[in-house]
Amino acid sequence: MTDLSDRFRGVMVGTAVGDAVGRPAEGRRSPDLARVLSYVTRAEFLPYTDDTVMTIELAESLIACGGFDGADMARRFALAWKAEPWRGYGSNIPKVFKAVLRGEPWAEAAARQFDGGGSFGNGGAMRVAPVALWAYPDLEETVRLAEMTARVTHTHPVGVEGAVIQAVTVHHALRKDFATDRLLADLDRSVTTDRLRRKLERLPECLERNDDVYAKQALGNWVAADDSVVTALYALLGASDFEDAVLRAVRLGGDADTIGAMAGAAAGARWGYEAIPWRHKVEGHDRLVGLADRLFRRVQENLEAK
Ligand SMILES: [Mg+2]
Repeated sequence: MTDLSDRFRGVMVGTAVGDAVGRPAEGRRSPDLARVLSYVTRAEFLPYTDDTVMTIELAESLIACGGFDGADMARRFALAWKAEPWRGYGSNIPKVFKAVLRGEPWAEAAARQFDGGGSFGNGGAMRVAPVALWAYPDLEETVRLAEMTARVTHTHPVGVEGAVIQAVTVHHALRKDFATDRLLADLDRSVTTDRLRRKLERLPECLERNDDVYAKQALGNWVAADDSVVTALYALLGASDFEDAVLRAVRLGGDADTIGAMAGAAAGARWGYEAIPWRHKVEGHDRLVGLADRLFRRVQENLEAK
């Protein structure tokens, strides 16, 4: 039986493993899965990308501040980018980081993106998994925190709701009584934007067909939240174990590291840390386990106090 602490570790380490496995496939139309697997199996060390960097910073910020603090989170994201700008960040996001480092209010820096429309990229979703751990087992709080943490960089409603879908998915995947229909019912209640609702509507038929080419066309595999978050959900729901979920995500190509990171977070919640192959050679393993354990102890203390 996979216990909750193992699932918490699975979320943090699963993010990094999905990210690292997807990294060599990023930007490829149809990655050669045999090559990806050969790399992953033979490598002694699996480096992660910006997705995991920001996941770590988000978790650190929640822990350090005792909850959401937008200024702290924005500063941590910006400093992490400045220290390692080569991690694979998107082309627009450094503008937000630079503005934050210049001392501009974080909410204004994010909202100004894309001529004031805000970003609808998947950056809010790719890093949101620790929110589901922080707020566990409170689903409403998970949704609220997902929205707030997304808005630190992504203020477009599609960018924000992409983070909500991913956080609600991780929340459900943490539960022993995980059931796809309950997850989809909660997503139906939480998602209001047409662009994401249309993708969710196509999910059942994609799962039924179980065809990569069809799923990629129907759900997308690129950097917009509505071209990747439901795609990661497809990889999770069609999978039989952690490895299957991550490989299903990565073999779709495109934004493979991020789709892999999102599928990896949810699959780590679903099947737990011990079920993650390659976990001991992923970059940041000990730090990720430490963060998961701190988040778990907090939730355990909260539950015991009730
Ligand atoms: Mg990345």
